[in-house]
Amino acid sequence: EPVLVLDAIEKTYNRGKPGAVEVLKGAALSLAPGEVVALVAPSGAGKSTLLHIAGLLDTPDAGTVRIAGHEMTRQSDRRRTAARRAEIGFVYQFHHLLPEFSAVENVALPQLAAGTPKVDALARAQDLLAHVGIGDRADHRPAALSGGEQQRVAFCRALANRPRLLLADEPTGNLDPATAGTVFDMLMALVRDTGLSALIATHNPELAARMDRVVHLDGGRLV
Ligand code: ADP
Ligand code: ADP
Repeated sequence: EPVLVLDAIEKTYNRGKPGAVEVLKGAALSLAPGEVVALVAPSGAGKSTLLHIAGLLDTPDAGTVRIAGHEMTRQSDRRRTAARRAEIGFVYQFHHLLPEFSAVENVALPQLAAGTPKVDALARAQDLLAHVGIGDRADHRPAALSGGEQQRVAFCRALANRPRLLLADEPTGNLDPATAGTVFDMLMALVRDTGLSALIATHNPELAARMDRVVHLDGGRLV
């Protein structure tokens, strides 16, 4: 069973008003368990809109979003939020780590919010950080880490609650090219080891080529 199915997704901003922008016009996608797909599109094509709809942060005007077999577009906000917290991890171009907390605390926080006991949450956070090569940085606050290290912490945080699906929007877009390649490899290793599915937006053709499949967002459709 696919982890994510998007079918006939339509989205227009400011519908019926003078500034209406038709962004998605029948976008469709199916992500198999363990599959990692690159989402490639020029700026303004609608990548963020698509990722927000797939991540249950926004609703389409038409079409369906299925997460692990469950249709989500017609669920209540409460159920959509619960599904998002349980099934989906997010990574952005900028890490959005909390500056007052250490790396290991940042990774542990989503687990604490989900009710995991503190000792278990911290142990898993420490494991994840070690997995991406920054176990010795666990007690540093974000400001004391390099850009690549900060993004690695953000990857660990996204995976902390063992989601089935990772949605990433230019996860290495803020790093210099050499660092981006290395940090991207770490993200891929983490994704492969945990067996989760991922939809990763990138402008970088080299990174896109390292994924299982590349889809282009073109004229509001995925091809
Ligand atoms: P991308 O992530 O590919 O750069 P976005 O999904 O952010 O594209 O935006 C797609 C289009 O929709 C752009 O033309 C953008 O200006 C427009 N858009 C995005 N969000 C809104 C919004 N909240 N209201 C109106 N227009 C929006
Ligand atoms: P929280 O547990 O912080 O209340 P949610 O359960 O609402 O967060 O969402 C889970 C994840 O979805 C957040 O960690 C964040 O990465 C992402 N997210 C939530 N709201 C937004 C938003 N408005 N725009 C972009 N990403 C968001």
